[in-house]
Amino acid sequence: MHNFVTHLECSKVGDHYKYDEINNLSKINKPLLVKYDLEKIKNKFSRKDFIQDFSQLPGFWKYQYLLPLANVSSVIDLGEVITPLVKVSTFPNLFFKDEGRLPTGSFKARGLALAVARAKELGIKKIAIPTNGNAGAALAAYASAAGIESYVFCPKDTPPINIKEAELQGAKTFTIDGLINDCGLLIAEHKEKEGWFDISTLKEPYRLEGKKTMGFELAEQLNWQLPKNIFYPTGGGTGLIGMWKAFNELKKLGWIDCEFPKMFAIQSSTCSPIVKAFNEGKDYADPWLNAQTLASGIRVPVAVGDFLILQTIRESNGYAIAVDDQEIIRERDNIATTHGFLACPEGAATLAGYNKALQMGLVDENEKTVLFNCATGLKYPMPEVNNKFHE
Ligand SMILES: *Cc1c(COP(=O)(O)O)cnc(C)c1O
Repeated sequence: MHNFVTHLECSKVGDHYKYDEINNLSKINKPLLVKYDLEKIKNKFSRKDFIQDFSQLPGFWKYQYLLPLANVSSVIDLGEVITPLVKVSTFPNLFFKDEGRLPTGSFKARGLALAVARAKELGIKKIAIPTNGNAGAALAAYASAAGIESYVFCPKDTPPINIKEAELQGAKTFTIDGLINDCGLLIAEHKEKEGWFDISTLKEPYRLEGKKTMGFELAEQLNWQLPKNIFYPTGGGTGLIGMWKAFNELKKLGWIDCEFPKMFAIQSSTCSPIVKAFNEGKDYADPWLNAQTLASGIRVPVAVGDFLILQTIRESNGYAIAVDDQEIIRERDNIATTHGFLACPEGAATLAGYNKALQMGLVDENEKTVLFNCATGLKYPMPEVNNKFHE
């Protein structure tokens, strides 16, 4: 037995929920957080045990002591890897954590792997998800591998590869005339009748635990010295909130004692509810109207964890920055041609955000900084090629 979960807790008011029951949001419709008996872990295991005892498991699965599975046999192995830190600029301390190398080509694999494995432990048979593409693909893959039915709802202008990969990996996939929050409403309306478990971002507790592993990986990769700055393309914000949870858990365990990074949330200027709320000093974000951006992964007009994202940015002394779609594409094309690195638009957005932060004097180019390339650039539309060869 390796599980140290004590209970689930409302992220707003702290009331408790049971680990061995199926849960979505708390009674007041806020995200639930998984709580562990950190004292017990601390007394029983060292940091070395944490990274070694389950090192036979692929990628992020090895961090079992701080993951919520009841049984190691529930692990769904699609060949997860520890994602590399790639140097893609002339700045010596600037790295992309390249999440495009994970199964299904995006970091959505982390969250959905954990959430689907836990759903299976809880006896869930049908799962539905609203998605801008990558989450649907990850759900499809892990659910099919686990023998669970999946239903994917995405906006009709989702990148075509995302729609097709979800369907091909076994999800019943539907496109709708609307945005991701409209997909979410549709699921909420039909889930009871259809018997679906709603696995939307932060509307169940375990995707966050999967995303948390980015924080563990970073700590281990950097020899338990965290970077000064982290730039995260922010939609629902699971990764930002998750990494912060990871750092806090490691600190309480006494496994890190360095300063925490400044957390930078990057959004598109045509869909930036968090940036707006941050600038206005608000605790919650207003829904963004007419959300548009070619960085589809961050086209999220409403985030149920908005207050947690804003808390994290402020607590970390970070910042929220909006970048234009033209800047995103310029950065994507630029690092592709100069460094041979094909980022996704969301990843390129973090580089555009980093440049802005440099100009604003929020970061220094000598500070160790990690940008997140959350998916492989191969999933997204690329410019046509029309060269004519003249002999
Ligand atoms: C989902 C997604 C994001 C946003 O991640 P959140 O944790 O939901 O904020 C960013 N980039 C890509 C490629 C994504 O698929």
